[in-house]
Amino acid sequence: MAVVVEPPVVAERRSLIGLDRTALAAWLVAQGEQEASSRLRARQLFHWLYVRGATRPDVMTTLPKSLRVLLEERANLERPRIVAEQRSEDGTRKWLLRFTDGQEVETVFIPEEDRGALCVSTQVGCTLSCRFCHTGTMPLVRNLGPGEIVAQILVARDALGEWPSAREGRLLTNLVVMGMGEPLFNYDQVKAAILLALDGDGLGFSRRRVTLSTSGVVPKIEAWGREVGTGLAVSLHAVRDELRDELVPINRKWPIAALLDACRRYPVRRPITFEYVMLRGINDSDADARELVRLLRGIPAKVNLIPFNPWPGAPYACSPAGRIRAFAAIVEAAGYPSPVRTPRGRDILAACGQLKTASSRPRPQRLERAAAS
Ligand code: SAH
Ligand code: SF4
Repeated sequence: MAVVVEPPVVAERRSLIGLDRTALAAWLVAQGEQEASSRLRARQLFHWLYVRGATRPDVMTTLPKSLRVLLEERANLERPRIVAEQRSEDGTRKWLLRFTDGQEVETVFIPEEDRGALCVSTQVGCTLSCRFCHTGTMPLVRNLGPGEIVAQILVARDALGEWPSAREGRLLTNLVVMGMGEPLFNYDQVKAAILLALDGDGLGFSRRRVTLSTSGVVPKIEAWGREVGTGLAVSLHAVRDELRDELVPINRKWPIAALLDACRRYPVRRPITFEYVMLRGINDSDADARELVRLLRGIPAKVNLIPFNPWPGAPYACSPAGRIRAFAAIVEAAGYPSPVRTPRGRDILAACGQLKTASSRPRPQRLERAAAS
């Protein structure tokens, strides 16, 4: 939760990616810039980083030469290393990124006709171990810092050639905070990253096009709505506590009733998306669908039915198409849109729940305790 990861320092050069304008100005002052000019310089630097996508100070022609030289010496504006890139037959792209300490995460871009969503990771691994999720088989190695989260967006824009950041006509329009990790267990840093992504003088994502998915960290849900205000997706997956305890173990701490209460209080006026992975013979009966409708009563909601995406050694199978249709029909009849999500990028293990990287450090006790509190 409030485990702070300092931006990585590369050979004495500090990474400036992930700092907001106030922090950039403070850094400039610490390097000897005059207080009076620091805000203007920070604004210009911010523009170069997030509107132009600059990776080197020498292109920053609006900055004085002396400042460009200083940045060359003391700042690092580089992206994480792209260790691998894969492209699915359906156009989905996945990048494996390595940070300076060697830890790796995956980022996935899912293009549609006239828009596209980037699925960003927030942790290396996950403290939770949902039974159907590949990421859940990894131990949590560490939280990502704001710069490491924002860098995933920069890498995608680099690859798509979408600099400068434009309001219209771009393919990377949406962000989904649904990659590796439980974002609300890394609250402060995910918040800083998403606020940067929403900054209209920078990356310029629209709040309506950003969605955070949580497995159900109840005490943080309302705060996220108030402080960041994006759309919310909740990984429900089961309608009885007994089953949800098993599938989504965080349910033992915050059971279904508490989770739905938090959803009722979510302060953003937008339907909440309930994600429901379809597991053959486990959670996909007509009775489950009817109970789902009963539970959602009074909550403006949409139900995303996700066909289970298999991964090596997974203990479940996906419900047959006919079963998913029957389940959807019951939910639809009660007035909740319930689209069946078309799996994207399954062939490159880029679909929901398939992300996993090699991790190289034991799980620090500190993080485990933080996550459990
Ligand atoms: N940790 C957050 C966000 C990442 S997971 C969360 O759990 O919400 C994004 C979505 O993919 C969640 O709804 C998750 O439950 C779902 N998911 C995980 N494994 C899956 C799998 N194998 N097939 C389909 N969906 C899966
Ligand atoms: Fe973590 Fe989400 Fe996977 Fe559960 S579904 S293990 S919370 S990433």
